[in-house]
Amino acid sequence: MPELPEVETTRRGIRPALVGRRIEKFDLREPRLRWPVEPRLAAEIAGQRVVDVRRRAKYLLIDLERGTLIAHLGMSGSLRVLPATAPRLLHDHYDLVLDSGRCLRFNDPRRFGSLHWSPGDPEDHELLAGLGPEPLEPSFDADHLARLARGRKVAVKLFLMDQRVVVGVGNIYASEALFRAGVRPRRAAGRLRRAEWEKVVEAVREVLADAIRQGGTTLRDYVNADGTPGYFRQELHVYERTGEPCRRCATPIRHLVQGQRSTYFCPACQR
Ligand SMILES: [Zn+2]
Repeated sequence: MPELPEVETTRRGIRPALVGRRIEKFDLREPRLRWPVEPRLAAEIAGQRVVDVRRRAKYLLIDLERGTLIAHLGMSGSLRVLPATAPRLLHDHYDLVLDSGRCLRFNDPRRFGSLHWSPGDPEDHELLAGLGPEPLEPSFDADHLARLARGRKVAVKLFLMDQRVVVGVGNIYASEALFRAGVRPRRAAGRLRRAEWEKVVEAVREVLADAIRQGGTTLRDYVNADGTPGYFRQELHVYERTGEPCRRCATPIRHLVQGQRSTYFCPACQR
């Protein structure tokens, strides 16, 4: 599943081909995505110029002159820039046809992706309102985490994956960040000390920044905007390494299930 680094990698990949271009038409083949694509969307966006391509959590925000397209890749989606004449494949659901002769094409075998139109500030859209801070921005810090965690018994791993606490820390990155911070994933969030929150913040930032630098983690069906896989997978310390030796201390990595998701940790390095 594309996580924050993959979405950021996509943003960086598609942005140069989009900004400054005018949308000639919106070509929708399959409106039945996670939520149906609104029929009025094609008429709303035709003729508008792309002003910027941003990211909020795992949403790509394509700013046009009179509003913003809010795109989500879902579980298996990808957005690629292609010649507008490139033959469509199975699971190609929409094209944003640009005046450059190219298009932004969305492919998504499982159709959990989505596309919305926000005529106003996208931060006020129901999908984005109420989201926590971006993990790579200064408002995500130890004070913020300690304040929200006060008195809470929820496991720290699940706490970090709560989008109201911080956005974009998915399953892989939560396990990896807690390894780097030396914190056991099952500890109650309310019991972490201040110094531990500082390590968690630093570790979340590092793990996401490393993954973005390397183009996202390679997962089964993920490819970047230009079709190349990410290379972060080789850098994983604990994720899907059950029984293999810890890269720091050689203790076998352990596995447990939290909130129906797999968690991996080193029983020696994490306390
Ligand atoms: Zn270890």
